[in-house]
Amino acid sequence: MDNNNPFEIAMRNFDTAADRLGINENMRNRIKHPVRALIVSIPVRMDDGSVRRFEGYRVQHSTMRGPAKGGVRYHPQVNLDEVKALATWMTWKCAISGIPFGGGKGGICCNPKEMSPAELERMTRRYIIEIMPIIGPEKDIPAPDVYTNAQTMAWMMDTFSMNKGYAVPGIVTGKPLEIGGSLGREFATARGTVYTVESGAKYIGLDLSKATCAVQGFGNAGSNAARLISELGTKVVAVSDSQGGIFSSKGLDIDAVIQHKKETGSVIGFAGAEDISNEELLIIDCDVLIPAALENVLTEKNAADVKAKIIAEAANGPTTPEADKILEEKNVFIIPDILANAGGVTVSYFEWVQNVQHLFWKEEEINERLRTIMDVAFKSVIEYKEKYNVYMRIAANMLGINRVAQAAKVRGLYP
Ligand code: GLU
Repeated sequence: MDNNNPFEIAMRNFDTAADRLGINENMRNRIKHPVRALIVSIPVRMDDGSVRRFEGYRVQHSTMRGPAKGGVRYHPQVNLDEVKALATWMTWKCAISGIPFGGGKGGICCNPKEMSPAELERMTRRYIIEIMPIIGPEKDIPAPDVYTNAQTMAWMMDTFSMNKGYAVPGIVTGKPLEIGGSLGREFATARGTVYTVESGAKYIGLDLSKATCAVQGFGNAGSNAARLISELGTKVVAVSDSQGGIFSSKGLDIDAVIQHKKETGSVIGFAGAEDISNEELLIIDCDVLIPAALENVLTEKNAADVKAKIIAEAANGPTTPEADKILEEKNVFIIPDILANAGGVTVSYFEWVQNVQHLFWKEEEINERLRTIMDVAFKSVIEYKEKYNVYMRIAANMLGINRVAQAAKVRGLYP
C-alpha cells in the first residue's frame, strides 16, 4: 500500500469511521467507492500551432443525497486516484454541512503556470465538451479548485450553454457575478475556515486576539484566511506559497503581502520579513496552523515537530494518517478538511440555489447563513467526537458517512 496515495488514505479513514459506526459490509459496498469516473483526452492547439494532449478526469463519488458537487483542479500532479480521493471527501463534506449534494471532483493534469490564457481557455472548453454527458445542474456541478478561478468557470458555463442553446448558469458555481455568481463565494472557503478556527479556539480555550498563526499556501483559501484571521487580532507570523515562505515575529501586514505577491508572483522577498522554506513554516512556533495548499504536507516526518495547538485544514488531505496519530498523541486540535474548508461548497450551494430560483441574496444574508451552517457542522462533529471518544478527523468522517448511510437506507437499493 502506498502511504501517500490520497485515495487509499480516504478509504482507510472510511474504514476506521465505518468500523466505529458499526456499518455492515452490505452498506459499505453501496457507499464507500466512487459511483462513476470518466477519463478524457483533451487535445489543445497551443499558441505555437502545435497540438498537445492533456488528460482530464471527472469523478462522481456519490449522488445519494443529491447531484455530485465539487471543483476542478489544474495541476501537474493531478491523477485519477487523487481526483477519486477529492471526490470522496466532497461527499462527506456536503453531508457534514447538511447541504443536499453528493461528492464529485475533476482535474486536468497540466501546468497552468506555463500556459497562456488563450491555451487555458481552449483546454477548459474542450474538457467541458468531453465531460458534458455526465454533468448538469441536476447531475454534477463543477466549481473552482487549485489553479482554477471565476474566469475558468465563465468559460465552462459559456461552453455548456452554447451547446444547450440557452444560458445555464446553474451548471457551475464560483462564476463571476455578471453571469449569476454569488456574492461572498470568492472568500467563502477562507471565511468558513476562520469560523471553524473561532469555534475551535473557544472549545480549547485559546484567545485568538492574543494568538499567532501560520498559513501554508497563498492561493484563494490561504491568502484570504490569513487576511480574515488577522482581522480578528491574531498575529499572522508566517505565510508561504509554492516558491517558499516568509516569517516575521512582529506579524505580517497581509494586505501588503497580497500586493507584493501580485507584483512579484510570490510572497518571498517581502520587505521586513525573513525568507523561510515551506518545511520550516509547518513547524514554526505558532498557535494556529492553516495548511491551505496540497495533500500530504503533514507526515510522520514532521508531525512531531508541529508547535501549533490548532490545525485548521483549508486544503484537502494535507495530513497523512500517520501524522494524525502523532498529532492526536500530542493533543493537537485538528479541524479536518471536510469540516474546515466546507465554506466553499456551502456558498456554492447558495449560488446554485440562487441560480435555480433566479433570485439573488444580499452578501450579509449569505455570510450569516454560512456562519450558521459552519457553526452547526462544527457542533455536530464535536458531538460525535465526545459521544464516541474519537479524534476530530474520525468524528467528522463518522458524521458524514452516517448521513450518507441513512440516505442510502431510506432510498433502498435499486433494482
Ligand atoms: N473545490 C472546493 C472544495 O474542495 C469547492 C467545491 C465546490 O464549491 O463545489 O471544497
